Amino acid sequence: MPSLIPELNVVRKNWRKVDLKIALCYPNIYRAGMTGLPIRLLYALFNAREDVVCERFFIPTKNEPLTSLESNQPLKKFDVIAFTLQYEIDYVNVLRMLSEAGVPLKRKERGKDDPLVIAGGPCATENPEPLADYIDMFIIGEVEPILNKLIDGMKQIKTPKEVVDLASLEGVYVPEARNLVRKVWIRRLDDAPHPLAQQVPLVDSKSPYMTIFGKTFNLEVTRGCSRGCRFCLIGFTARPMRPRSLKKLEGILEEGMRYTPVDKVSLIGSALSDFPKLEELCEYIISNNWRIAIPSIRPDAVTEKLARNIVRGKQRRITLAPDGTSQRLRNLIHKGIEEDQIIQAAKILHQNGIKQLKLYYIIGFPTEKSEDIKEMVLLTKKIAEIGFNSIHVSVNPLIPKPHTPFQWEPFPAPTYLRKHLKLIKKELEKHGNIRVSGLNIRRAQIQAFLSLGDRKVGRVIELAARYGASLGAWRKAFKENGISLGHYLRRKNLDEQLPWDFIQIDLNRCSLIKELEKAYSEPLN
Ligand code: SF4
Repeated sequence: MPSLIPELNVVRKNWRKVDLKIALCYPNIYRAGMTGLPIRLLYALFNAREDVVCERFFIPTKNEPLTSLESNQPLKKFDVIAFTLQYEIDYVNVLRMLSEAGVPLKRKERGKDDPLVIAGGPCATENPEPLADYIDMFIIGEVEPILNKLIDGMKQIKTPKEVVDLASLEGVYVPEARNLVRKVWIRRLDDAPHPLAQQVPLVDSKSPYMTIFGKTFNLEVTRGCSRGCRFCLIGFTARPMRPRSLKKLEGILEEGMRYTPVDKVSLIGSALSDFPKLEELCEYIISNNWRIAIPSIRPDAVTEKLARNIVRGKQRRITLAPDGTSQRLRNLIHKGIEEDQIIQAAKILHQNGIKQLKLYYIIGFPTEKSEDIKEMVLLTKKIAEIGFNSIHVSVNPLIPKPHTPFQWEPFPAPTYLRKHLKLIKKELEKHGNIRVSGLNIRRAQIQAFLSLGDRKVGRVIELAARYGASLGAWRKAFKENGISLGHYLRRKNLDEQLPWDFIQIDLNRCSLIKELEKAYSEPLN
């Protein structure tokens, strides 16, 4: 496809001078893949090795052929096909990309002339089993500490079947070997390389290839999170929060903005608000006349100074995520935020010039009732009265995640979700400046099915991919397989074997059960 996309900092290498050719695949379109950090980071990490060439692939945005951005080569010509799995719903695109490229889908059907197919990213760490029949090897956790050993190991492999030899590497899961695996992670973020020459599309802002925050330099400020909100995958699989030092960040920006001459810095980190020098970092960015992009912020981290700096950095819209619909539920999920703090944060942001606010809520937490939803409606109305030009309320169903205390919880009943989404829309959209949106309930169910699934789930993904990945395609795939969605979305017994039990993260089953008990010990009113 898009050698059609003009970009800054594309890496092109002579294929004859390298030992390993890696196709880095994002199973969605360019705009989605190039907005975040993972592709830019992995591209830099792989290409930093002189013996490796790494080229990128995305799902075609229009009707482009599935070839690499850098040299227009087809997937099949690479030694390794590496997927980064950021969202479960993209699994279907993994199989569509392999199929389109003529690579046999099932790993057992691939032979010595086929590429090795690997995957990493938060969804691989969460639960690789739904794709275990299709992927030769998964990286569980963060790749940096094992990167060189991994590349050296892959260079030795003559056929994908030999991948079992790599199962002894820390953080590597080989479905054929069914090995136990402990997540690998980087202790000090200052020791991790950061991409300096980043790929930025040189296209018009209206182009479908323009990234969501425009032409930005992505700065990874923190990684992981120590907060432990009981529903959150990152809060349990990517502990602890690791910050970069301010000095290091300033150094990265000084050099990076020379290689990547854009005027906006996008700050990346799940626990960005917990970065102790956030105000100073914003001041440094503004003092260089760069703009700032901060996607979301914790209400208790909003100060006058920070809000002023965000606005001086020319940002006019931001997201606050109360998550729980009532204070009782915010306590139950261990969010650690009071209603007063949310309102106060909204006031400070508005007074300092933020015009558009997004509020993110999750419905369907354990013990939730209509009273909780009504409290959310009241809170949102109070925030709307502050006077923002527009408020976007995003309401999404709880998707129970592996490795969290809610992994045993059922997916909320669709009738409950429909009824309350309708109520929320009816109550809030009376206000001209509020817009309500949310994930389609069927899509959310499919996402939960993919999060919580075992190896049998792969057959459904394969059929859904074959039938075009629409909701109708999923329905047909479920029907043909005779697989019951309800089985995967039900409440699990606490002593039940779970598909991801072979992955060791931080907390063992007993600790997660204790956290679940603490959640249920919150008073009902
Ligand atoms: S929801 Fe946010 S603050 Fe809570 S654990 Fe997840 S990343 Fe951390």
